[in-house]
Amino acid sequence: MPELPEVETIRRALVEPLTGRRILLAELRLPRLLLGFPAADFSAKLKGQKIRAVIRRGKYLVLELDKYALIVHLGMTGQLTAASRDATENPNFHKTVTGLQKPVGVHPVDKHTHLILHLDQGGRLLFRDPRTFGKLVLVPGHKWREHPRLSKLGPEPLEMKIAEVVPTFPKDSIRPVKALLLDQEFLAGVGNIYADEALFLAGIHPRRKVKTLKPAEKTVLLKAVQSVLRKGIKYQGTTFSDYRKPDGGKGGNYERLMVYGRGGMPCRICGTTLHKTVVAQRGTVFCPLCQPLASPRKKPV
Ligand SMILES: [Zn+2]
Repeated sequence: MPELPEVETIRRALVEPLTGRRILLAELRLPRLLLGFPAADFSAKLKGQKIRAVIRRGKYLVLELDKYALIVHLGMTGQLTAASRDATENPNFHKTVTGLQKPVGVHPVDKHTHLILHLDQGGRLLFRDPRTFGKLVLVPGHKWREHPRLSKLGPEPLEMKIAEVVPTFPKDSIRPVKALLLDQEFLAGVGNIYADEALFLAGIHPRRKVKTLKPAEKTVLLKAVQSVLRKGIKYQGTTFSDYRKPDGGKGGNYERLMVYGRGGMPCRICGTTLHKTVVAQRGTVFCPLCQPLASPRKKPV
């Protein structure tokens, strides 16, 4: 699932091709992906609207238009690509491929292309989502931050002040710390990949109970979250299956992950075999040596 670094990579790549462009035609091909707005009115409302800004909040991408905001959540397999109307099709997409063999490049319009924004100057924005867990929300005006899906989001990890977030760890919680990192009301934008990576970098076991974390560990963990997210953005996101940049290319962070997707392989730091387990109903990989379950104790004098 695209997380903060993937959505931010998409946002950065869409600013130039989308900002200032006018929507000539909005072609919604799977109306059930649109929430909170009558699909029958969608095209009429978007026609003629200019795209004013491309913004990210957590894992959400927001297109601010003249009179509306279009909120996009990519779900599990959503892809947003920018392609000119006369872009040539990549013939590799017509071969049967699976998993990691999926070709790169802008995918031609097919049965999984659920929204096409036709823009002036010959541009198009394509939203493609094979598993259809993605969501589109159209809200009038620019008060999208008040929409129920976004109003409760926690702080932006790359903009937060760590000293202000440390006291927001619930003090009596017996939840595993990984569950807290995945909680979008605690922090916005962290998902399974970057939660595992941050816990590894911080040397904290994913099953540690939140109430056992010391303030210094919370600080280390939040710094680790920022570090792995920045690295993810630097390498333009993690592609192990469906995530694509707006030019259709893959992100470069997959090969650089320390633990996620590496269960059974040796730890890159100590060589111990990485364990794969389930925490907070999510597949979780950690190093049993680098991330001990017991909280560190002072040695007896
Ligand atoms: Zn290790």
